[in-house]
Amino acid sequence: MTTPTEDTVDPRPRAEGEAPLVTGQDYRDSLRGRGLKVYLFGERVAEPVDHPMIRPSINAVAETYDLAVREPELATTISPLTGERINRFLHIAGSAEDLVKQNKMQRKLGQLTGTCFQRCVGMDAFNALYSVTYEIDQQHGTAYHQRFKNFLAGVQRRNQVVGGAMTDVKGDRSRAPHQQEDPDLYVHIVRRTDEGVWIRGAKAHQTGCLNSHWMVVMPTLRLGPEDQDFAVVGAVPVEAPGITYIYGRQSCDSRALEGGTLDQGNARFAGQEAMVLFDDVFIPHDRLFMDGEFEFAALLVERFTCYHRRSYVCKSGVGDVLIGAAATIADYNGVEKASHIKDKLVEMTHLNETIYSTGIASSHQAKPTQSGCYINDDMIANVCKHHVTRMPYEIARLAQDLAGGLMVTLPSEKDLENPETGDLLRKYLKGRADIPTEDRLRVLRLIENMTLGRNAVGYLTESMHGAGSPQAQRIQIARQMELETKKRLAKRLAGVETEEGEEGEDGYLARVFAVEGDQAD
Ligand SMILES: Cc1cc2nc3c(=O)[nH]c(=O)nc-3n(C[C@H](O)[C@H](O)[C@H](O)COP(=O)(O)OP(=O)(O)OC[C@H]3O[C@@H](n4cnc5c(N)ncnc54)[C@H](O)[C@@H]3O)c2cc1C
Ligand code: SF4
Repeated sequence: MTTPTEDTVDPRPRAEGEAPLVTGQDYRDSLRGRGLKVYLFGERVAEPVDHPMIRPSINAVAETYDLAVREPELATTISPLTGERINRFLHIAGSAEDLVKQNKMQRKLGQLTGTCFQRCVGMDAFNALYSVTYEIDQQHGTAYHQRFKNFLAGVQRRNQVVGGAMTDVKGDRSRAPHQQEDPDLYVHIVRRTDEGVWIRGAKAHQTGCLNSHWMVVMPTLRLGPEDQDFAVVGAVPVEAPGITYIYGRQSCDSRALEGGTLDQGNARFAGQEAMVLFDDVFIPHDRLFMDGEFEFAALLVERFTCYHRRSYVCKSGVGDVLIGAAATIADYNGVEKASHIKDKLVEMTHLNETIYSTGIASSHQAKPTQSGCYINDDMIANVCKHHVTRMPYEIARLAQDLAGGLMVTLPSEKDLENPETGDLLRKYLKGRADIPTEDRLRVLRLIENMTLGRNAVGYLTESMHGAGSPQAQRIQIARQMELETKKRLAKRLAGVETEEGEEGEDGYLARVFAVEGDQAD
């Protein structure tokens, strides 16, 4: 790992307003007055921070700051770049232990928010870029790695949020970027000058983009020589001229506009996705980390997804909340002692811990890259994410089973407040006599929120597609499954004559059997 030097210091002076953000409130305040061009419901949003539909997603990111204040051991560390204590979301992993701690922090934040807290895409992009810029420089004699470290050191000092913008809108999925009828369907460079480059295109599904200070723009897929202008990586301030955001709708999101908290299920926290349109947006050279080196696009995507697919242990923290909600509603309904209820809670826990186990195992089985930064195990990361495409759905099914039908037929909070209907609802919707009806309804609404409502976006569909759709993981698993080695093992024991073959030196099984001190890379 790099030790701090003069030239790792951000060249820009730290202006008064750029004192490091410490608390969640500092962070919220930092998002104000940026003049972002955001559209929601067909109208420009004057100040996203004040919008009731957007605020819960800001609260979720704010929790990453407050956790760092409350539990610095878990959510902060010392940066080798600056020598200062920084938020763990901005740290480059210098050991397997660093990766494991990321996972523990992610599970904790999943528990605290019950949703996507949005900061891991940037963290995983940083870690991928740290090694990829190093390797590009080795091959091309470029200076991307130092530029990247300068940028990162500045972000660490100010404790800012960085989004990772990888997914292009992609048009016809069977065609490469340069083959699309409209080249803007993949973000690409439209102009180069002595100062930098201008990019155009759109990124879809961008988690927490409005809640970030920077976005790191990256290519989506493997690129060929004809795709050179699509091979661009750079950091862009979220408020850069030429960027328009169109806010993504979430199921039941407009309940945040109705007043009250009960019907929202989880009124404090939500995720955020938006479409980001880049209409000739400038990236200066000092924030450009790939410019045409198309042969490194696949490596960057693979490393990013390797980190990000085990980051999905976040869902085990969210799963803890849903299991807790299911157990609570069983208590409130007076069925907690029934054997099938207990068994379903065991099944939910088993599934949830399967997700966590694979994620944490991937982090433990890490190895150093040439740059010195550590990368978690790719096979197990893909197994983790593949579990995540399935298991939250089954956990959600079991939670709905325990909740009963009221979860979707429940009258609104306003009916509970109405003097004509309120007392009748409190009487007829009671479960156990010692539990206030409203508490029962709150837990039902939370289960609705997590399995059908706003936070089902994070718990279910993001689990399916985020960090790549299921097939993307199957491809990576297939690449690393070492069938020839396994066939030889079987033939040997079965007494079938088999040629001795070379065991791969840097394959998955080599990583499995590496003893301490071995470096598989
Ligand atoms: C909630 C959420 C948050 C996200 N956050 C981010 C983020 O912060 N940053 C970011 O960069 N991305 C983000 N993503 C994007 C995510 O990585 C993509 O959704 C994912 O890669 C799938 O791409 P897609 O949605 O365009 O689906 P599609 O590409 O349209 O896939 C749909 C189906 O088609 C299949 N398919 C696609 N292409 C091919 C092909 N060439 N051949 C055969 N089959 C194909 C897929 O396997 C899948 O089954 C997020 C996604 C979600 C849902
Ligand atoms: S889905 Fe999970 S890993 Fe990805 S940004 Fe959200 S909380 Fe982090």
